[in-house]
This record gives sequence, C-alpha cells and structure tokens, in this order.
Amino acid sequence: MDQEPGFIAAVEEAKQGAAEGGVPIGAALVSKDGKILGRGHNMRVQKGSAVLHAEMSALEDSGRLPASAYEGATMYTTLSPCDMCTGACILYKIKRVVIGENENFVGGEDLLLNKGKEVVVLDNQECKNLMSTFMKEKPELWFVIPVDFHYLIETNRNPL
Ligand SMILES: [Zn+2]
Repeated sequence: MDQEPGFIAAVEEAKQGAAEGGVPIGAALVSKDGKILGRGHNMRVQKGSAVLHAEMSALEDSGRLPASAYEGATMYTTLSPCDMCTGACILYKIKRVVIGENENFVGGEDLLLNKGKEVVVLDNQECKNLMSTFMKEKPELWFVIPVDFHYLIETNRNPL
C-alpha cells in the first residue's frame, strides 16, 4: 500500500511542506476508481491558517464535489488525522483512511473505526522521519499551546 499513487502523492506533499519550512504532513484524496481528486499539505505556517491541515488542503484542492464522488473514496495522509480532519472524513463519507504513521501523534482513529471507516496504518519510516525531525527542529511550530512541550512529546498530545 506504500506504493499506491495516493500515498506516494501524500508523501510528496509532506516533503513539499518541509521544503517550504512548514509542517511536513501531506494528504491525497483518491476516488474509488483510483483517480486522485485532490492533494495538499499542511499550510499552517505558510498561510497562517488554523484550518488548512494536510487533509483539509486535499479536500480544498478537490473542489466542491457531488456526494457520490466521495463514495468509496480513500483519504491518504502521512500522519494520523486530528479530530478536525477525522470529522471532515466522516462528514464527506470517505470510506477508507490510510495513515502513514501514528507514532508521533494519534488522532481520531477510534472515532473513524466507530463510524465504520476502514483504517489502515502503514507504519511508514519515511513519514516517521519527516515528523520526528520537524518536531525536534521546530518544536515551537508543532506545540502551539503554551504548555510544557516535553509533556506533550511524551504523551503525543495537542498538535494543532
Ligand atoms: Zn487535521
């Protein structure tokens, strides 16, 4: 599954985000017949955005689609999706969420499963390296809430 075009696109997006000095998380939305509908990366730093996480960027890039376009679709993301992006996947009835890694952060996977979504965690080393390097080099960008980020690193909490 690491070789699926949607996942490859998501990793490319994450690297692009890193190259831009942003949060290195990428995503791609793929239709049930394998077409990439949209792709994007986290734009929090680049646009000062509170909502353009990687998955939201991919949804934005997909444009406004008829409900049928999301049926059977897969959201590929390099990191476990936060509650907002989990909610967006549920709202648009995306069937499957393929996650690069959930070692650096665990998001709404339980909720996705409770909502009947298929969740696949690839445990991909490249994704892990992108995130762990970023968190070490730019903790102030990842841990935006003014609390002790060592606690957050230990507990995988609160990346916004
Ligand atoms: Zn998110």
